[in-house]
Amino acid sequence: MPVYLDHAATTPISAPALAALTSVIARSGNPSSLHGSGRRARATVEAARETIAKAAGAHPTEVIFTSGGTEADNLAVKGLYWARNGAEPQRTRILVSSVEHAAVQDTVEWLAAHEGAHAVWLPVDSNGRILMDALEKELDRGGADSVALLTCMWANNEVGTVQPIAEIVALAKKYGIPVHSDAVQAFGSIAVNFKDSGLAAMSISGHKIGGPVGVGALLLGRAVKLTAVQHGGGQERSVRSGTLDTAGIAAFAAAAQDVTSNLETENARIGGLRDRIISAVRAAVPEAVLRGPDPMDDPAQRLPGNAHFTFPGCEGDSLLFLLDMAGIESSTGSACTAGVPRPSHVLLAMGLDENTARGAQRFSLGHTSCPGDVDAFVAALPDAHARAKTAGMAGHQSSIQTASTQ
Ligand code: PLP
Repeated sequence: MPVYLDHAATTPISAPALAALTSVIARSGNPSSLHGSGRRARATVEAARETIAKAAGAHPTEVIFTSGGTEADNLAVKGLYWARNGAEPQRTRILVSSVEHAAVQDTVEWLAAHEGAHAVWLPVDSNGRILMDALEKELDRGGADSVALLTCMWANNEVGTVQPIAEIVALAKKYGIPVHSDAVQAFGSIAVNFKDSGLAAMSISGHKIGGPVGVGALLLGRAVKLTAVQHGGGQERSVRSGTLDTAGIAAFAAAAQDVTSNLETENARIGGLRDRIISAVRAAVPEAVLRGPDPMDDPAQRLPGNAHFTFPGCEGDSLLFLLDMAGIESSTGSACTAGVPRPSHVLLAMGLDENTARGAQRFSLGHTSCPGDVDAFVAALPDAHARAKTAGMAGHQSSIQTASTQ
């Protein structure tokens, strides 16, 4: 069995979620039907809604089920933009952190290209944390009346940086600006409470917390106006039409309950394993640089399951393939188009140059991670790194092909 160090991409389904999925999927019934089967399905959905609301610190009516984090992000950003800009056409600006996941970043870019929005990319510091001064200046400078919304992720999927959401919301509130946060990586990993956060909208996803792929939710404040993105049967407060996935939703709720009931203990356990990975990388490859906040300085600023390094002189993809051959599954953390590695926009926003950014590798831990995983990683890293470094930056395509046919 390979050692799985890519929980940030997707984490294995948890036992309670699998049990819920398999028992509910065997039953038929559309939750919108009025007969017995429909009512049973509806009861399952509503129980799940309450469970998820409790796990995320929301009211059940604030939970809008979606097909995952990407859809929740699209619904929040497009829906808030259209609602605000429709009512007040001068509100064309979207304030957005420069380290967002593509689900937010590309949505904002699409609104700018097609809907007359103006994207304002908010800078971050060298750890990927939003610069509050720059945000404040932007609000003053551009005039808050021209802002439709602000969107800033709760925690970054590449480098694990936790953003100061409370401060951001407090500042935006002074100007009457609704804030959306993509909490896909944060929810289930650190304490997240929708009500306490003061956010207008927040995205979460099932498969990042031990639920199945293909289900998620947008938590949406009851007074927040949102224009629907997809139209149809009017389910989910008429903002997200479509027959609900009863089994997926039940499993998502089971995962949410499981992961949040045990958050502190798991947080400490996983954080301990992550710290061992950081120490091991530093010992084996002293030139490697930890990206994102150092948990030894302040563990609260980084997701407990995330370790991210750049390895000078190594192509991230080469290291990924060489580790994979040694039975260790990791990630470069960022997208790759048609086999061509692209430097991560997150690392570039943090001030890295393109060459340095191309040497990135993310090791992410989760509920199935154990000390044996770290031991196997520690044993495999020196050789994989030495070979990746020999392959270097330029000849990486041929070196990967050679490596993968060995
Ligand atoms: N937002 C963040 C921060 C993510 O890490 C991901 C998944 O990688 C998504 C959004 C997309 O979520 P989903 O895969 O559920 O569509």
